[in-house]
Amino acid sequence: MSHPNTFPAYRGQLEYLCLGCGARYDIGELHYTCPSCGAVFVLVDNTFDELKKTSAAQWRTLFDQRAATKNPALRGIFRFYELMAPVLEEEDILFLGEGNTPIVDSPPALRKTLGIKTAYKNDGQNPSASFKDRGMACAFSFLKSLIRTKGWTEVLAICASTGDTSAAAALYASYVGGAVKSAVILPAGKVTPQQLAQPLGSGAVVLEVPGVFDDCMKVVEHLADNYRVALLNSKNAWRILGQESYAFETAQWYDWDMRGKCVFVPIGNAGNITAIMGGFLKLHELGIIETLPRVFGVQSHHADPVYRYYAADAGSRSFAPVAVTPSVAQAAMIGNPVSFPRVRHFAEKYEALGGAGSFQVIQVTEQQIMDSMIQANRHGHIACTQGGECLAGAKRALELGLVSKEETLVLDATAHHLKFIGFQEMYFENTFPAEFGVTPRPELANRPELIITQDEKQALAEQDYVVKAAGNVVSRLGLAKK
Ligand SMILES: *Cc1c(COP(=O)(O)O)cnc(C)c1O
Ligand SMILES: [Zn+2]
Repeated sequence: MSHPNTFPAYRGQLEYLCLGCGARYDIGELHYTCPSCGAVFVLVDNTFDELKKTSAAQWRTLFDQRAATKNPALRGIFRFYELMAPVLEEEDILFLGEGNTPIVDSPPALRKTLGIKTAYKNDGQNPSASFKDRGMACAFSFLKSLIRTKGWTEVLAICASTGDTSAAAALYASYVGGAVKSAVILPAGKVTPQQLAQPLGSGAVVLEVPGVFDDCMKVVEHLADNYRVALLNSKNAWRILGQESYAFETAQWYDWDMRGKCVFVPIGNAGNITAIMGGFLKLHELGIIETLPRVFGVQSHHADPVYRYYAADAGSRSFAPVAVTPSVAQAAMIGNPVSFPRVRHFAEKYEALGGAGSFQVIQVTEQQIMDSMIQANRHGHIACTQGGECLAGAKRALELGLVSKEETLVLDATAHHLKFIGFQEMYFENTFPAEFGVTPRPELANRPELIITQDEKQALAEQDYVVKAAGNVVSRLGLAKK
C-alpha cells in the first residue's frame, strides 16, 4: 500500500458509454451527448475489475489514511481517485477546498420533535457554496489535462444556468485561467442579484438572452456542437463523476457501515442522485461497503417528473416531462431532467442489489419545504430550500411508513442557506406570490423588532437611554436579575 501522500499509480481506461444506444466513445474528444443517438453518457472504467485485486480492507485503510494527506491533489474529492477519474495526472488536479463536507447530526430537540434521527451533510460548505463544486473540480481537472496534452491555446468554458452551476463554473474557470475563457448565458431579467453576484465576481463574461432557461441552453448546445467549447451543464459526464465523491465521503463518515442509513437527495436535473447512487454502487462492488444505504429522491409537487415515473407500478412506467410551476426549491425546478436516463440506469442496478425500497422518490409540497427549511435552520442547520425539501421528504417518508425510528436519515443540504435567502425573506415578510402556495406559519416567522424609537432615544441622556433600552430588552425577553 502506497504512502497516503503519494499520488496513485493506478490508471483506468475511461470511456463514454451512451445510455441510449450503448455506443462507446474515446475520452480524447469533448463529448456531451451521443453523436449517433443524442442520449446522455456515463463514464465507465473498463479496467475497474483490477481494483478488486486490492481487498476491501486495504481500500478502507488507504482512504482513511489519505484523509490526513498533505498532498493537495488528494485532499478534496480525489481522495477517492481510483474510483472516480483515474486518468488524470497529479499536475492537472484542481483543489479549491471542495469536498470533505461535514455531516452534522440534528440536535436532540429537533430529533425529538421529528421522531426520527436526522443529520445534514452540509454541501453548502463547498467553495462556491453548493455541491456543484464537486463536479466542477473533476470537469475542470479533465479540461486542464486536455489543454496540456493537446496544446490548446483557447477553450471556452460555458454553461447556461441561473444559479449554482454558473457560480461554480465561473469560480473554477477563473482559477484555471490561461487558455480557459469563461462565459455564462442567462435569461435576461429572470435572475436575482444573488445569482448574478458569483459569476460576475469571478470575472466570467455574463451574456443575457431574452426568454427562459431553455432558450439559453439551446444557444450553449449550438456552440458546443460547432466550436471548441467545454459545456459545463450536467450533460457533462465528468461532473457526475466528481459528484460521486458525496457518496464516498458519506460512507467514510460512518466508517464504511451503511446499515440503517437512508440518504435523502433533492432531484432537479437528476445529476446528483445519479452520482450518489453510482458512487455507492462502486463502493459496494469493491466490498468497501457491505450494505447499500437506501436512497430517497425528493421532488416538489411543482416539479415532480421523476416522482411521477416511479409512483407508477414497475410494469406500467413511462416517462413524461411535466410543466413546472414556481418552486422555492428553485435549483430543482426542472420538468424534463437531463439525467433522467442516468437515474433509470442506476436505479435498476440499485434495486437489483439493494432490494425493493432501496431507491424511492418522495413528493412534498412547497409549504412543507419552506416550513422544514426554517425548522432545520432554527436548530443550527444551514439548509437551503433544497435542503428543506430533504427534511420535508424525511417527514413524509416517516408518515408513509417507509423509514423507521431506528434508521439514520442523512439529508443533503445541497447549497448554503444564504444562497436562497430570498425565500426566507418572503416567508418572514409574508410576501409569497400566490402561485407558490406558501402561507407562513406565525410561530416560524421572524422579524427584527425596534426596541426603542429614534425620538425616545433622542429625548434621553446617554446613560438614561442605555437603561431604558436595556429595560425594554429585559421585559421583551423576560430576563431575571443575576
Ligand atoms: C443543481 C442543484 C440541485 C439539483 O441537482 P440535480 O443534480 O440537478 O438533480 C439541488 N440543489 C442545489 C442547491 C443545486 O444547485
Ligand atoms: Zn447513443
